[in-house]
Amino acid sequence: MDFAYSPYTEEMRQKLQSFMEAYIQPRIREHNNETQAGQFPVSFMEDLKALAREEGLWNMFLPGLKDDEPGTRLTNLEYAPLAEIMGRVPWSSEVFNCNAPDTGNMELLHMFATPQQREQWLVPLMNGEIRSAFAMTEPDVASSDATNITTSMQRKGDEYVINGRKWFITNATHPNCKVLIVMGKTDPNADRHKQQSMIIVPKDTPGVEIIRNPTVLNHHAPEGHAEILFTNVRVPVNNLLGEEGGGFALAQARLGPGRIHHCMRSIGAAELALELMIDRAQERKTFGKHLSEQGVIREWIAKSRIEIEQARLLTIKTAWMIDNVGAKAARKEISMIKVVAPSLHTRVADRAIQLHGAMGLTPDTPLADHYTWGRALRFADGPDEVHLQSIAKMELRQSNRGASEIYLTPPER
Ligand SMILES: Cc1cc2nc3c(=O)[nH]c(=O)nc-3n(C[C@H](O)[C@H](O)[C@H](O)COP(=O)(O)OP(=O)(O)OC[C@H]3O[C@@H](n4cnc5c(N)ncnc54)[C@H](O)[C@@H]3O)c2cc1C
Repeated sequence: MDFAYSPYTEEMRQKLQSFMEAYIQPRIREHNNETQAGQFPVSFMEDLKALAREEGLWNMFLPGLKDDEPGTRLTNLEYAPLAEIMGRVPWSSEVFNCNAPDTGNMELLHMFATPQQREQWLVPLMNGEIRSAFAMTEPDVASSDATNITTSMQRKGDEYVINGRKWFITNATHPNCKVLIVMGKTDPNADRHKQQSMIIVPKDTPGVEIIRNPTVLNHHAPEGHAEILFTNVRVPVNNLLGEEGGGFALAQARLGPGRIHHCMRSIGAAELALELMIDRAQERKTFGKHLSEQGVIREWIAKSRIEIEQARLLTIKTAWMIDNVGAKAARKEISMIKVVAPSLHTRVADRAIQLHGAMGLTPDTPLADHYTWGRALRFADGPDEVHLQSIAKMELRQSNRGASEIYLTPPER
């Protein structure tokens, strides 16, 4: 077992790190100012995207690119440390065309789009010319169980007619968001997992109405986690993605690698929070001592380091498994890290906030944003409890390992 990065990964890490230092870090303040003033997308985004593409730091998340598709050809294992670097500045992933939910949508289109759908939607997405959203969650039903969703998709002649209400649809208020992949029910009478389909809906189709963009823990995201109403939205049957009744399977396929991209970025965010914690602990004094000399603070620092290392190892093991045995066989690992990483993200950010005193709650540090996003990730792509349930199911299924027969020594009767 080799824990070192491969020479190629190391080369890409250094390239990305240099790009972050030259172009991203100097613009953090400007990005904050512009988004807080309601200017979105920020003025420099398109220029930075062009630069990143020129530098070969483009579409790094997608293994298995075809020859004519733009981007690097990294494995999930090679991508993990790069996503970690991007996780320190959450908006930076858009610069490299590696931001959710576009990444998950590109993966879906890459796997299932028809040639016409590829041309119309995948190509501009991979070129970073447009943005997209994925619409599954509904306010009226428990959407962590995707079989509950109620949005109806009725076939009428050569069209589907879509009616329903979605919310928490990330990216939907981004001015460049041109397309939604919507999950609904094409046949409510079919088997439970065959009722759903996914349909590509251009955002400007009549009947698509953005109702509001709710804040998340009172944090306003300009790209949106929007509530959207679909009223008699008509799209051609050619907009069906994959097969009719195949939506549930597509949703499973979409969430595999995408879930661990979030985890990789969470580890980067936790690493940054620890660094900020250490800097502050060494400069701030209370009761005649630096904070770094207080036992409780040392314990936070040590625990944060241990927990980050644990999570990183599980993340890269999961990435390795996705590369080598596929996302389906790595289901348990994906669920495990999906529970571990967002909690780590909030826990380390929370310690760092506490150590910074009241300042930790202000926009003068990135900690409040990191805390908010880590907390949100405990829901996005499935809440903790659903993943815990899947892990337990898989463990129980593998039971009957015979341990009790070997290791228990009950009294003889
Ligand atoms: C910031 C953010 C961005 C998001 N982006 C998107 C997006 O782009 N597109 C999209 O479609 N959705 C998106 N979501 C929605 C997210 O996927 C859902 O919130 C999530 O799947 C849970 O669904 P729900 O909110 O309906 O909760 P419910 O299904 O109502 O569940 C509520 C709670 O019940 C508990 N629970 C559920 N099942 C079990 C169980 N089996 N055992 C024990 N307890 C259980 C859990 O604690 C859970 O949190 C986003 C959410 C957030 C916060």
